[in-house]
Amino acid sequence: MSAIQSANSGEPVHAIALPEPDARPSGAGEHALDQAAIAVAQVAARFADAVDREARFPSEAIDAMREHRLLGAMAPVELGGMGASLEAVASACRILGHACSSAAMIYAMHQIEVICVLEHAMSVPWHRGFLRQVAEHEWLLASATSEDSVGGNLRNSRCAIEPDGDGAFTLHKLAPTISYGAYADAILATARRSPDAPAVEQVLVTILKDDTTLTRRSGWDTFGMRGTCSEGFVLESRGRQEQVFPVPFGEIAERTMVPASHILWSSLWTGIASDAFSRAHRYFRTQAQDKPTGASPAGSRIAEALGLLQAMQGRIDSALRVHARASASATRSWSETMADAAQINTLKTYVSITALQVVMHAVMICGMAAYKNGTPFTLSRHIRDLYSAPLMINNDRIDANTASLLLAQRPASLEKE
Ligand SMILES: Cc1cc2nc3c(=O)[nH]c(=O)nc-3n(C[C@H](O)[C@H](O)[C@H](O)COP(=O)(O)OP(=O)(O)OC[C@H]3O[C@@H](n4cnc5c(N)ncnc54)[C@H](O)[C@@H]3O)c2cc1C
Repeated sequence: MSAIQSANSGEPVHAIALPEPDARPSGAGEHALDQAAIAVAQVAARFADAVDREARFPSEAIDAMREHRLLGAMAPVELGGMGASLEAVASACRILGHACSSAAMIYAMHQIEVICVLEHAMSVPWHRGFLRQVAEHEWLLASATSEDSVGGNLRNSRCAIEPDGDGAFTLHKLAPTISYGAYADAILATARRSPDAPAVEQVLVTILKDDTTLTRRSGWDTFGMRGTCSEGFVLESRGRQEQVFPVPFGEIAERTMVPASHILWSSLWTGIASDAFSRAHRYFRTQAQDKPTGASPAGSRIAEALGLLQAMQGRIDSALRVHARASASATRSWSETMADAAQINTLKTYVSITALQVVMHAVMICGMAAYKNGTPFTLSRHIRDLYSAPLMINNDRIDANTASLLLAQRPASLEKE
């Protein structure tokens, strides 16, 4: 019986979507973390359907990340990490995205927090010690930027750092979404610098699990990314002033958090779309073998999907170059900074929409075998997970920001890479 016959027979076939050597996105195997990520992806793929069905934390995949030392990989070697680059982490995200979207998203979100510490807090002994602990114990870091009545506007906070005598502070934040908050060893939260500071005068603060109480206030019964367990919490914490980053959050967001988020999210979304493409490719080839004479109408779709995947990866590679150039240069002109920000914004909006287009092509190629659950070609999870992409910092909000950049910019300066 061919794979397609078994898919159409209605028999439940438990597909294990391992990242196959010929189905890996181009470039896999070239980066420092790829082998470890492939080993973790094999574990993640086995549990991806259960994680999605039960909306549960992908503990097997995260344990495997710890075993392969992937969580502390970006920490410098002298602090016990591997000094892995953003490019290597992006490649790992793409490989993990092939296997389990939620595990890949958790990995990406964790690394976004690590890179913020690396690029903006290494001058503070407390944060150097913190990063050493991340590497030693493979701590998992979460993020609390969203806030009630502020929504997805990263650059506004309602809560504030409240001085509590002798260099101590307390923080009380109503967080509508903290992915895997219940499983994190530390959380990086935004807040106003002080109770009398305006909403835009924000800082980033690292708070530790042992100093924090999270009271669950909403669940996470969503149609996709179910394993991220992105529940709402009342966050109450205390700490010391050295846990507050020494630079304003606006600078951290612009130079690091937004570019790293858009690059790593785009990488894992490309991984998800790439897995859908592999399933369609297998279906297409099996179909051609079963009916060797007639040309398949799926031919133009598979070619179009491949072109879109290549364009997505090309955009990520270009954004990685832009980010590396910006990180290496201490002085950037205002127009260069604006041009880079526009490119990083459109990376996110482009990849989040295009990934869904690739999956739609794959659905049209595989037909009912994609629509049914439990076939080797089922694509329900891919579509549902990818629908979070345009919402995760709403594309409309990002487009409005890009439009503001364009208004402030003379046309010629945006044409440079
Ligand atoms: C899988 C997943 C995991 C997440 N994990 C976390 C996490 O760990 N930590 C965290 O803090 N957050 C997390 N979030 C939340 C996320 O990052 C955003 O905060 C959230 O997606 C924004 O939610 P929203 O659509 O309700 O808000 P908004 O983006 O505030 O609301 C969207 C609405 O605002 C409108 N809008 C667009 N532009 C503007 C504008 N300029 N001004 C006013 N309104 C505008 C839109 O048209 C839309 O109607 C996660 C989200 C997802 C999907």
